[in-house]
Amino acid sequence: MISNKMKSLVSNNSTIRAMFEEGKRLSEIYGEDNVFDYSIGNPNVEPPQNVKKIIIEILNEEKPNLVHGYMNNSGYEDVRDAISTFLNKKYDLSLSKKNLIMTCGAAGGLNIILKSILNPDDEVITFAPYFGEYNNYVQNFDGKLVISQTNTNTFEPDMEALSEAINFKTKALIINNPNNPTGVIYSKELIQNLTDLLRKKQEELNTTIYLISDEPYREIVYDNIEVPCLLNYYTNTFIGYSYSKSLSLPGERIGYVVTNTLMDDFEEMISSLNIANRILGFVNAPSLFQRVVAKSLGLEVDVSIYKRNRDLLYNHLIELGFTCIKPQGAFYLFPKSLIKDDKKFCEDAKQFNLLLVPGSTFGCPGHVRLSYCISYEKIKNSLPAFDKLATLYNLK
Ligand code: PLP
Repeated sequence: MISNKMKSLVSNNSTIRAMFEEGKRLSEIYGEDNVFDYSIGNPNVEPPQNVKKIIIEILNEEKPNLVHGYMNNSGYEDVRDAISTFLNKKYDLSLSKKNLIMTCGAAGGLNIILKSILNPDDEVITFAPYFGEYNNYVQNFDGKLVISQTNTNTFEPDMEALSEAINFKTKALIINNPNNPTGVIYSKELIQNLTDLLRKKQEELNTTIYLISDEPYREIVYDNIEVPCLLNYYTNTFIGYSYSKSLSLPGERIGYVVTNTLMDDFEEMISSLNIANRILGFVNAPSLFQRVVAKSLGLEVDVSIYKRNRDLLYNHLIELGFTCIKPQGAFYLFPKSLIKDDKKFCEDAKQFNLLLVPGSTFGCPGHVRLSYCISYEKIKNSLPAFDKLATLYNLK
């Protein structure tokens, strides 16, 4: 008999995964080329060529027990040294290996952070639309996710709404920059306003409010837009980083958490993150890929491929009359659905073999998410299906 908590999770199993399964089913009927699956964020751009070389080099040249063994639960010291030096140069910081814990991707990172800071019934705020897994991650530690609405014309936080949402139970704010599902990037000015508000609230309530920045898309950025580094703005900051998208290695489960040295209770926090990595059963981040990322610093996937996809799809949807913010990063579009009921809209889209994800999955009904990390040809071939979808609602 499964637990009550898991019972509700099993019955509400992820809509995105369900769509992915639907894609496979439709492919069997209509052939893969005729199904346009925009449901899941599995990168289609290949890892940089050198990553493969580096993997082979490590396997050929390093001692096997040093590549495949256990290590400190925070990760290899030389790997954390190399990453902290890289970050110091890039963002003008003064981190050491102590600030870094290697994790099983951003998901592993978020879970060790929440394990470290949450007591039952503590509240964690995030902005809608948001990555649905935050609900599960916060519930893992008996916390409560509180949703703060954004202005749906810009998808930027509403500072007044945020201010009202913060109370003595608030332990953290999770932001996701660049954002899944909107592709919006928070500017320096916005980050400054946000962190000013958090500081003010910390003082008023005489408490610590952590800022958790979920950053798996940090490198997936277009048009030279800069993603501000939160460690430079707010001391009680955690950044959860991942190589799932920047190096296209999502299945390898590799990333890190980096904390600000000036954070409240820093030493204790670092010990806590280390122990959380162990006792949540991650034990440590995958050892081979710790070595791989340390030797791949500065390498990135070819973002121009995603940009080309963005431009093709975005321009077509705008021509058809969709309302959509132009994404500055990540690889998702988040247009308004053509009817209020986003779930029905996604059901209707299926008749043209278009698989889209309802915005309500992200706490933002009336919108849909399209993951454009699929091939350019596939996007091109899907455009007539969008034309038919628009015609269905008399848009064109
Ligand atoms: N956070 C966001 C916003 C994501 O979109 C994803 C994955 O798609 C994750 C976290 C998890 O990333 P990882 O594969 O690094 O665990």
